[in-house]
Amino acid sequence: MIRAYVALGANLGHPAATVRAALAALSGIPEATLVAASSLYRTVPLGLKHQPDFINAVAAVDTTLAPLALLEALFAIEARFGRSRSVKNAPRTLDLDLLLYGESRLDEARLTLPHPRMHERAFVLVPLAELAPECRIPGRAALSELLALCRDQGVARLEP
Ligand code: ADP
Ligand code: MG
Repeated sequence: MIRAYVALGANLGHPAATVRAALAALSGIPEATLVAASSLYRTVPLGLKHQPDFINAVAAVDTTLAPLALLEALFAIEARFGRSRSVKNAPRTLDLDLLLYGESRLDEARLTLPHPRMHERAFVLVPLAELAPECRIPGRAALSELLALCRDQGVARLEP
């Protein structure tokens, strides 16, 4: 059994409801168990500016699926929520990223582990710190050190 962490993001439709429903969908993946979910956060978009704020969260999942099989299961959930893939950083109904898969490091076109941009994104690191404050990002640094470097990014916890 491997502990994996998944980032959830949405900024179209009803993003908070989408993220909550996607958390429920994660618990429906065969061979995976949803162990914990962070609070939801509201985030100002990076990259393309003129689009709605994002709602972000992170989930901890225990799984016996191989990394690519888990990624495929995440893509299947994205598709169920109506995601179509257009340009990078574009608005989306639901984005699911595989952040960490145990201590694995992988560099393939389809899957890079740890997720290649997670270490510089407060909207990933802040919710991840709720679930795993002591964690290290393989190949990078301790989560606490990385968090200190992106404290200036706007991430606000939603009231439950
Ligand atoms: P982003 O999440 O960066 O906004 P997309 O969700 O459109 O972009 O993903 C683009 C590609 O990134 C996908 O085709 C996917 O195969 C690849 N990818 C590589 N590593 C990962 C990862 N750790 N988690 C999710 N997707 C990944
Ligand atoms: Mg993605």
